[in-house]
Amino acid sequence: MIEVNDLSKRYGDKIAVDHLSFTVEPNRVTGFLGPNGAGKSTTMRLILGLDRPHSGGATIDGKPYHRLHDPLRKVGALLEAKAVHTGRSARNHLLYLAQTQGLPTSRVGEVLDLVGLTEVARKRAGGFSLGMGQRLGIAAALLGDPQVLILDEPVNGLDPEGILWIRNLLKALAADGRTIFVSSHLMSEMALTAEHLIVIGRGRLIADSGVAEFVERSSKRSVLVRTPQSDELTAALSAEGGEVTADGDGVLIVEGLEAPRIGELASAVRVVLHELTPQRASLEEAFMELTSDSVEFHAEVK
Ligand code: ADP
Repeated sequence: MIEVNDLSKRYGDKIAVDHLSFTVEPNRVTGFLGPNGAGKSTTMRLILGLDRPHSGGATIDGKPYHRLHDPLRKVGALLEAKAVHTGRSARNHLLYLAQTQGLPTSRVGEVLDLVGLTEVARKRAGGFSLGMGQRLGIAAALLGDPQVLILDEPVNGLDPEGILWIRNLLKALAADGRTIFVSSHLMSEMALTAEHLIVIGRGRLIADSGVAEFVERSSKRSVLVRTPQSDELTAALSAEGGEVTADGDGVLIVEGLEAPRIGELASAVRVVLHELTPQRASLEEAFMELTSDSVEFHAEVK
């Protein structure tokens, strides 16, 4: 379990992490979500003791990282896939880590297999693609067979097959009782991988909830109605408090009224319906809506 308690970090005037508190439980994948610049990497660095907080702290299974006895057996982390000696082979990079950390060297072959790098194990890591670099970083994180995994944007640079592979790997590791904390700026990716979400924006906690609950709470529900009598129906729905937006071709988007009520009202005013479909904002829309105030750099809309 990872516990973050009132964690804050400033860089000069910039508040990167702002009094964050949350818990990451074992047995499930917890997604750490936020737009770019939200403070995800900084939080992960603070959890791993790589940066000093201005307030608060974080513990892993009850201890701050620097007090862990055998850190690589307890926590595996991937923060920056490019953090390898470019002249070393993948195998030698892992051997060096195993030998300096007192881990069995037999584990090197196992993790190379697990991440699918066995064939290129003797090639220079400097020549690796971003996706291969990510796989090597994940291999290093798994070397000590840790109970806790902290991965910063691990799917960056992976091809679709690689993304599917890591999704299944993380789920399997969580099902095995491990604590998995994985960051992303993509809601769609997290929706498929994580069961639980910690969402932050501008360093602050926005949501700490299950994926389904997050969408339920943050998405506006609407109903798509198609009718050849849109004027009559708009009048009837508006009179009942519905918010109606015409979308062309006889399509109306209705907010504030549920589909059954819309059907009843249409029937009462003898309006024919060709379609009546409840809509739910997509996960990406829910995420954008929730974090729109906390995006650091907005694209200029012209
Ligand atoms: P994320 O991982 O969510 O994209 P970061 O944790 O990398 O966000 O960054 C959070 C904020 O802190 C950003 O505004 C970033 O520019 C700033 N920041 C991060 N690291 C440093 C640093 N070493 N020096 C100055 N500012 C930093």
